[in-house]
Amino acid sequence: MHETDAAILTEANRVMEICNACRYCEGYCAVFPAMTLHRSFAEADLNHLANLCHNCKACYYACQYAPPHPFGVNVPQAFALLRDETYRRYAWPAPLARLFERNGTVVSLVTALVVTAVLLLTAGLTAPGTLVHAAVGARAFYRVIPWAVMAGVATLALGYAVLAMTIGAVRYWRQCGSAQVTTAAILRGVHDAFTLRNLGGGGQGCNDKDESFSTTRRLLHHAMAYGFLACFAATCTAAFAADILGWPAPYPWFSLPVILGTLGGLGLLVGTSGLFGLKLVTDPTPLARRLLGGDIALLVLLWLTAASGMLALGWRQTSAMPLLLAIHLGPQESPHFP
Ligand code: SF4
Ligand code: SF4
Repeated sequence: MHETDAAILTEANRVMEICNACRYCEGYCAVFPAMTLHRSFAEADLNHLANLCHNCKACYYACQYAPPHPFGVNVPQAFALLRDETYRRYAWPAPLARLFERNGTVVSLVTALVVTAVLLLTAGLTAPGTLVHAAVGARAFYRVIPWAVMAGVATLALGYAVLAMTIGAVRYWRQCGSAQVTTAAILRGVHDAFTLRNLGGGGQGCNDKDESFSTTRRLLHHAMAYGFLACFAATCTAAFAADILGWPAPYPWFSLPVILGTLGGLGLLVGTSGLFGLKLVTDPTPLARRLLGGDIALLVLLWLTAASGMLALGWRQTSAMPLLLAIHLGPQESPHFP
């Protein structure tokens, strides 16, 4: 094990041993009830607890042992660093896992490279001037980027993402999992994920910026997550309309793909802009600063995808559409790391 990994694990273990003796924060989130099931913590236990933490920071501001106390208990920081280590440990394929060390730089560079590649390929594979002339009428989008290229690259990117997440989840489960999973536990987990219950901070909300409670981060995460799902639903309904019903894009403003895409794009813009703003004003003390670059790069990537998609939709009858479409598709094909 890398020396830094060992130090991160040692710190998480130290903090959990103090918390397990104290137990003041039991009602705040899923971490503390799970913690009380252990008398000591194996590496797998700590990895699991770190991934239950939603970084709400409630336990930091409530803690009588937080800095400047000599115990220096900072659960959100210790767990954020350990969570990052687990992303690397369970990532697939293993050689790409090292990229987590420079997450922000990698996301930025890969996004820039992919956008450039999409622009160059579009310019090279289409008729001269396609990128700067208006494309209107049925199948206008596909005259800019052929359907086979758009669908092929999207399928590859989606397939890779699903495979990598499944393998990562299986690796995580093998190390941390228990022998039994009940249907009730799965349903509770899905419910908690869709409602972001653990960003509720025990009912009053999280400590988004400082020691005052707020539900802002939870609402912004909802806007971002449901916006993303609405965009995915828009893509699926558009594919169904084009490939099954034989009704090619572009679609009218009040069609299902456009309504879902507009709502999704707005949700993504509101969520990512708000979360970026929160990062600028939040108290940095409980945070793991070295992870900030990756967080911001992911927010910018999602914001860029949503903004270019909304602009391509609004200006689809103009000469700006081909360029905006190429820019919109670039970030979607970029790999990113949570
Ligand atoms: S974070 Fe502090 S107050 Fe909360 S359980 Fe741990 S030691 Fe106790
Ligand atoms: S930061 Fe929030 S989610 Fe994480 S352990 Fe503390 S109270 Fe729980």
